[in-house]
Amino acid sequence: MQKERVIVIGSGPAGLTAALYTARAQLDPLVIVGQQLGGQVSITHDVENYPGFVDGVGGPELVDLMQKQAERFGARYEYDEVVAVDFTKGSPFYVKTHGNEYTADAVIVTAGASPKKLGVPGEESMTGLGVSYCGTCDGFFFRGKEIVVVGGGDSAIEEALFLTRFASKVEVIHRRDELRAGVHLQERAFANEKISFIWNTEVREIRGEGAVSEVLLRNRETGEEYVHPTQGCFIFIGHYPNSNFLTDQLAMDEQGYLLTDELMRTNVPGIFAAGELQDPVYRQVATSVGQGCAAGMQAEKWLSEQPEPEAVAAAD
Ligand code: NAP
Repeated sequence: MQKERVIVIGSGPAGLTAALYTARAQLDPLVIVGQQLGGQVSITHDVENYPGFVDGVGGPELVDLMQKQAERFGARYEYDEVVAVDFTKGSPFYVKTHGNEYTADAVIVTAGASPKKLGVPGEESMTGLGVSYCGTCDGFFFRGKEIVVVGGGDSAIEEALFLTRFASKVEVIHRRDELRAGVHLQERAFANEKISFIWNTEVREIRGEGAVSEVLLRNRETGEEYVHPTQGCFIFIGHYPNSNFLTDQLAMDEQGYLLTDELMRTNVPGIFAAGELQDPVYRQVATSVGQGCAAGMQAEKWLSEQPEPEAVAAAD
């Protein structure tokens, strides 16, 4: 059993910032990276609204900078995934990954969120064969092709705009007749000649032999169902929190978002949470960074108020 002072679960902007702050507080944090270093921002092409970068910054570049900055102060990274935790007995807390078992005096949970699925026939079997949840990852494969984007929020419109760099035609399929996306993005999309909209419509099925070739659509006003040819189906209909491994461990709302107070404390003293795992509202790099900073500072404060752990004191 490997003993740690602080374990940070997840390595998105919240996790990397929590690592930076706990590293600077001499707590030698171990970051358990998860599926992808950097989380969702690492597959975001351009981040235009993170302060300090006048011309925007590439998602992978921002992750690289954040990772190296925390590392400079002593943060360590384990490229593994947490599969189980036991927070029920108090500190030190038990954390199990695929390859190791740990105890940590404090834990900062920043496991982020994942894209929601439509849940229609063909979606799962066609993923990677024309169904995608990431324009940055897959846009290149759709050069000169005609594709559809499902959703009407910021993600869908931002990704639709990005995908016009590759696709010859991008049709946005939205279930209502009004976008949820911000006005600035809407204006850019309406002005883009490659983008058109299919309103009040839902995708019922995604079809193709070895690659997506058509979607079955249903007009929600008339009830009419019809086949619409397309070579790619990009789905951006929101996210769900990656909190499955925390069921019965931490208090969460009915959607699975962790409940935290204004000090980023969960219901278990010594466990803090930050980023999209506990934030269904803002979901910005800037807010995740702020929450990660607060969680790191609060973890440090909480640890300083606890009796020195025997094992750590002995090792010192
Ligand atoms: P979102 O705002 O929740 O939008 C999800 C979109 O998908 C909505 O238009 C929704 O339709 C639609 N939708 C949901 N479930 C659906 C289903 N089963 N079938 C068909 N359509 C469905 O999610 P998001 O776009 O990922 O954005 C999440 C948060 O991140 C927001 O706060 C957003 O502002 C933020 N964000 C910001 C930026 C930026 O600032 N540049 C970029 C990306 C995301 P309805 O509209 O009918 O509900």
